[in-house]
Amino acid sequence: MPKQARSSRPYDLAIAGGGLVGGLVAMALLKLRPDLEIALIEAEDHFGGNHIWSFFESDVEPEHRWLVDPLISRQWDSYDVHFPKYSRNLSNGYFSIESKNLDRALRKQLPASGLKTGQQAKMVKKGLVTLANGSEIAAKAVLDVRGSGDVSALDIGWQKFCGQMLQLKEPHGLERPVIMDATVEQIDGYRFIYCLPFGDRQIFVEDTYYADTADLDSAICHDRIAAYAADQGWQVEAVLSEEKGQLPVIYGGDFEAFWHANQGVDARAGARAALIQPITSYSLPMAVKTAILIAEMSDISQKKLDEMLRNLAQNHWKNGKFYRMLCAFLFLGADPDKRYKTLEHTYMKDEKLLERFYAGKSTRLDQANLLTGRPPIPVFRAIPLLLKYR
Ligand SMILES: Cc1cc2nc3c(=O)[nH]c(=O)nc-3n(C[C@H](O)[C@H](O)[C@H](O)COP(=O)(O)OP(=O)(O)OC[C@H]3O[C@@H](n4cnc5c(N)ncnc54)[C@H](O)[C@@H]3O)c2cc1C
Repeated sequence: MPKQARSSRPYDLAIAGGGLVGGLVAMALLKLRPDLEIALIEAEDHFGGNHIWSFFESDVEPEHRWLVDPLISRQWDSYDVHFPKYSRNLSNGYFSIESKNLDRALRKQLPASGLKTGQQAKMVKKGLVTLANGSEIAAKAVLDVRGSGDVSALDIGWQKFCGQMLQLKEPHGLERPVIMDATVEQIDGYRFIYCLPFGDRQIFVEDTYYADTADLDSAICHDRIAAYAADQGWQVEAVLSEEKGQLPVIYGGDFEAFWHANQGVDARAGARAALIQPITSYSLPMAVKTAILIAEMSDISQKKLDEMLRNLAQNHWKNGKFYRMLCAFLFLGADPDKRYKTLEHTYMKDEKLLERFYAGKSTRLDQANLLTGRPPIPVFRAIPLLLKYR
């Protein structure tokens, strides 16, 4: 039987960008609002890009876990960090999602009329998405989640990294993730290695930099990953997959100018709305929250969606001031080869404080605590920054 053509009535929601947020919004709507007809428009031929997204247990509200739990590939009960002065094991759970899981779930659950991979949204405006091939997708509401947009109004440094999933000849012996191994040579700012033990002989190793510029030479990164593996005594049998990222780390700027620079609709989320943890650039926790907030709206009209998401982004920006100050300490307060000291200082703190810090929920007391003790940056640099962000 030939497939019945869809009628020309508008979709209830057109989502431009089938990455993390777009995918999670679609999944949340499929569950909570199966009555709505949605179109998920993605330029690539698969949803989600090529990522391993991870989050701490304390980052995602327990009542929201239903959205991400089916996507999790691996989970651990605790994690380690290594700095020149000390190593520490922390008991927060850690979870990793491979983007292929999101792609698979969306393909399984979205009706064919909503699956729009390989289609580039050229223009996104109220009620309409115009594709690069000239065709149009009309919708009662449009959501713009096409990833990072124009960040020229923001003061940023960069978190950049290359990761490889390694198949080893012998077991690696790691029982839990190493979120930061900062005992490695400090190059191009704060450098650390991140390791996720996926299987006995399978380990994801990422070479990461908090640097002033976004340029990243994958070949050099891969050599450094190989050198790190050799230092651990790991013999690499094969490289199973690779990923890379260059994420803005925001330490200041003008939110209103940022918002205006990215025109289209106010209904934006994810990286496009700076809904990220300023220090880690993690956006998964906010993506989960955003998806559930949208799916729980009683009226998903453009007006309501615009209002809700603009307020969400604005409040997130306001609440992020303290973290932006810490980012300024990192990028402006320390010489690049001494940047690691800020994180070394932070990781000495109480575990619960660190959980709230990662979740972007530091209390006033936490903030005071994070600023006490011997400062990790010179006082003559810290004071102007403290005054600026006061
Ligand atoms: C390699 C990597 C690893 C990361 N790891 C983590 C992590 O462990 N934890 C965490 O919280 N965060 C992580 N992040 C940061 C952040 O969570 C991701 O960048 C996240 O994917 C951002 O979500 P998003 O939906 O805003 O953007 P994206 O996921 O980038 O989605 C945007 C989507 O829009 C599509 N698109 C762009 N332009 C168009 C267009 N014109 N038309 C149609 N589609 C378009 C893109 O192809 C993409 O699929 C990582 C980022 C990278 C790059």
